[in-house]
Amino acid sequence: MFAFPTNDGLTLTAIAWPHDEFHRFRSDIEGNYFDTLRMMPSLAERLPAARRAERFTGMADVPNFFRQPFGPGWALVGDAGHHKDPLLARGISDAFCDADLLAAAVDDGLSGQRPMLEALARYEQLRNERAMPDNELNLAMAHLIGWDSPDVLRLRAALRNNPTQASRFFAANMKVIPHEAFFNPDNLQRVIAQAGMRQEQLATMLD
Ligand SMILES: Cc1cc2nc3c(=O)[nH]c(=O)nc-3n(C[C@H](O)[C@H](O)[C@H](O)COP(=O)(O)OP(=O)(O)OC[C@H]3O[C@@H](n4cnc5c(N)ncnc54)[C@H](O)[C@@H]3O)c2cc1C
Repeated sequence: MFAFPTNDGLTLTAIAWPHDEFHRFRSDIEGNYFDTLRMMPSLAERLPAARRAERFTGMADVPNFFRQPFGPGWALVGDAGHHKDPLLARGISDAFCDADLLAAAVDDGLSGQRPMLEALARYEQLRNERAMPDNELNLAMAHLIGWDSPDVLRLRAALRNNPTQASRFFAANMKVIPHEAFFNPDNLQRVIAQAGMRQEQLATMLD
């Protein structure tokens, strides 16, 4: 779940549940939504005084696919060509990266550096090479693989009262900063020390 400020002084709160739970969740959207929010103490405290400002919006249709993104006279960027589970929050960045690659390919075609269809085929190849590794990671994370291992839970506990490092943890997982900028021995040692945890707990967190 997450919460952040949005328009007109309102706060957006969102929750996600495993896909298998969709029909159970939908049988009582409001009840299940608030029960979920109440699991987070800082939100639970604020809920009694909160007013719901909008209708609920939900979705379960988040397919994962790569399509051929071009043909004679047309090309696709963003979700139309490569859709994915929103877990890693890559969609907007991917759409911009695709647009950048496609612009270069179309320029190659129009300026006669190579035939247009060959330039577009190269666009597809570069798009796939760039997006596939993130896609694999995204799929693994969307299955929640390893999210509740003892090491991950310990690391999250260590980050609980450390908003600076918690932001870096999410930025590293979402590739906003390099993975090793957070997951390196010195930094993890700092996180452990700041949380007052024992040094022996450090070793396995680097795996
Ligand atoms: C719950 C959720 C959370 C997400 N969170 C994040 C996040 O935190 N960060 C992130 O980067 N991404 C996030 N995403 C993904 C992100 O929203 C999309 O990947 C991104 O919006 C894709 O941009 P796009 O331009 O390819 O497609 P879209 O944003 O879908 O734009 C396509 C546009 O084309 C219009 N359109 C469709 N058909 C036609 C037509 N025939 N004629 C004219 N117009 C048409 C549509 O109305 C739409 O406005 C999230 C997605 C979901 C579902």
